[in-house]
Amino acid sequence: MEAAATNQSVPTTSESQQQNASYPHIFKPLDLGHTTLKNRIVMGSMHTGLEDRFYNYGKLAAYFAERAKGGVAMMITGGISPNREGWLLPAGGTMNRKTDVINHQRVTRAVHKHDSKIVMQILHSGRYGYHPFVVSASAIKSPIAPFKPRQMSIKNIQSTVEDYARCAKLARQAGYDGVEIMGSEGYLLNQFLSKRVNKRTDEYGGDIHGRMKFPLETVRAVRAAVGDDFIIIFRLSMADLVPEGNVMDEVITVARALEEAGVSIINTGIGWHEARVPTIVTSVPRAAFTDFTAEIKRHVSIPVMAANRINMPETAEQVLAEDQADLIQMARPFLADADWVNKARNGKTDRINTCIACNQACLDHTFEHKRSTCLVNPRACYETELVYNKAKKPKKVAVVGGGVAGMSAATVAATRGHNVTLFEAKDILGGQFNYAKVIPGKEEFFETIRYYINEMQHQGVTVKLNTKVTKEMLDKGKFDHVIIATGVVPRSLEGKLEGAELPHVISYADLLNGTATVGDKVAVIGAGGIGFDVSEYLTSKHGQPLHELGEQTLKDPSYRPKAQSIKAWREEWGVTLDTDYQSDGGLQKPEPITPVRQVYLMQRTKGRLGAGLNKTTGWVHRAHVKSHGVMQMAGVQYEKVTAEGIWVTNPQGQSQLLRVDTVVVCAGQESVNDLMPNVGDAPDAEYHLIGGAKLAAELDAKRAIRDGAEVAAQI
Ligand code: NAP
Ligand code: SF4
Repeated sequence: MEAAATNQSVPTTSESQQQNASYPHIFKPLDLGHTTLKNRIVMGSMHTGLEDRFYNYGKLAAYFAERAKGGVAMMITGGISPNREGWLLPAGGTMNRKTDVINHQRVTRAVHKHDSKIVMQILHSGRYGYHPFVVSASAIKSPIAPFKPRQMSIKNIQSTVEDYARCAKLARQAGYDGVEIMGSEGYLLNQFLSKRVNKRTDEYGGDIHGRMKFPLETVRAVRAAVGDDFIIIFRLSMADLVPEGNVMDEVITVARALEEAGVSIINTGIGWHEARVPTIVTSVPRAAFTDFTAEIKRHVSIPVMAANRINMPETAEQVLAEDQADLIQMARPFLADADWVNKARNGKTDRINTCIACNQACLDHTFEHKRSTCLVNPRACYETELVYNKAKKPKKVAVVGGGVAGMSAATVAATRGHNVTLFEAKDILGGQFNYAKVIPGKEEFFETIRYYINEMQHQGVTVKLNTKVTKEMLDKGKFDHVIIATGVVPRSLEGKLEGAELPHVISYADLLNGTATVGDKVAVIGAGGIGFDVSEYLTSKHGQPLHELGEQTLKDPSYRPKAQSIKAWREEWGVTLDTDYQSDGGLQKPEPITPVRQVYLMQRTKGRLGAGLNKTTGWVHRAHVKSHGVMQMAGVQYEKVTAEGIWVTNPQGQSQLLRVDTVVVCAGQESVNDLMPNVGDAPDAEYHLIGGAKLAAELDAKRAIRDGAEVAAQI
């Protein structure tokens, strides 16, 4: 089948049904008294790593300017500390001297050129700091931080209040439209607010009135320093999601007092960083916490802002239309697409590059002390370095492979004006993302396939499906450039493991493309990311079994798997908005889970399973397979598969039969790159090898998409 880009069937999201309708609540301006926000979308604070070094402020200015140009009403910078004790990382971004103002002016001037506002977040990390000067309400170490904090003296509290005020005043001098005071996510002011960390017996501890004294003094001092015509946002934790977290009536008491103290907007936060409940990963349903924001909105008269897992206009519009919030904050979605707001306004919702909440290139980078970027948009934070300029001379480009690497290359090359043809051997685009999107809790991966298909159509890429490309075809095609993005195949164990050819031994691809069925007892060989994903799919209740949905449905590019409901997700993780206001930090006892199947997940390596999973999401997968009763076996040797099941040697050296109906092989992948010219060949075209085809060992969508974009930016 050949599908010219113009008649390629284009998948739709539920948002696409509204393509030409406007989002009236999103685009209603908000009057703050001394100033007006042009719409209800705010880009939330996100540590990019650029704010920590003065020489990166040019890059930071370009990053914010691109988003300001994209139509967002207001943006909040990554956290800037008011003093040394408040650093998140050693020598992290600080604003406490006049000389700091100059760097920030580059940012504010760049933003103001595009009629957007920018607010600087003041973040004192308290006991979350990665340095030895950390302080807190009491000397109690956080389970996720390396240093035990020193308890702040009253003098220290008072000088810190002054540091906040000076910092805010300098922010005003730097041209910011306001400041956000971070009082959520378990940082310093949240530590004071909560009895979990605040065990003080002086006037800054005790009941909520004592515990909120420091945050309130901070707000009053900041207001006095900046005057009335300056925005002050306070990020307040609605549900700490940790034991001894505040109950809802305490949160309401603080919110009312903050309003009285001079706060302009309350930004609602959910969950401390040390909480063992996920709050922003992809398996959290969209808008899962907006009822907390709605509750606080009933008790204050200043605007409130909802956040967490809102990534598309339809969701944002609904939260506003239901009067749950006055403003919507999104951070990661603006890494994924700087033009999010303009696309929503111009009826181009289906062209939004959706944040899939994977954390792989943003938060995981932060924890690795690397510059943030975005898996689906490698230009994020590299705006001055990865530039998609118009090509001087349009070239004829072949892209072989319709996975995310190939689609990324094709899109960028076509954007630059090249004449691009993308060939795909199968009748479906999306490659490995088609397997990811059907995993319970990974439905967002659908959006990336939808984005690229639409983008290729709009950029005029010719897409040829069901086309197995040969070297001869490429030679005859007279291409200037050939980009080989033929990806990977699952590693087969046939010839390596006795019985691997039996019919009840299947690959993860057979399972996830809907062609294979599985029994009630399953052994999974390989405990990498895919082994975990498969185990979650096999044991989860939500979602229809893939073999029942069938291959055709799964191949339909407009089929979007249904996500777990907010109610079911909250029951599973034990989250509640307690209307009696007595629930500790929004926590309740999780509902026990009955797994759908009995699953063994195995690896040959000794030690904890899932140790190599990503920092900010791996713990969620590990918790999931544990709560789903998956039996985890490390340090096993596979002996053979028989009709009865699989024989393994356990770490104690004993031979053991696991009686299972099906064995699913998740043993990694092998590259497919046979179209690359051999040494000595002299093809007319210039060849480029990208993504999994280049290196299967560390198959990684982040690298695949970036490879595609980088090659296409250079040709
Ligand atoms: P992987 O992470 O490399 O894991 C492959 C697994 O197969 C390992 O557990 C390995 O364990 C085992 N294995 C390798 N060769 C084997 C052999 N010859 N026989 C038996 N077992 C063998 O690969 P993946 O799970 O396919 O994931 C691919 C990529 O996608 C990874 O980069 C991963 O980060 C990414 N991904 C991540 C996630 C996530 O974070 N949730 C989800 C999906 C994919 P032993 O060698 O110890 O047996
Ligand atoms: Fe969103 Fe993933 Fe990009 Fe982060 S890396 S912004 S979570 S898509």
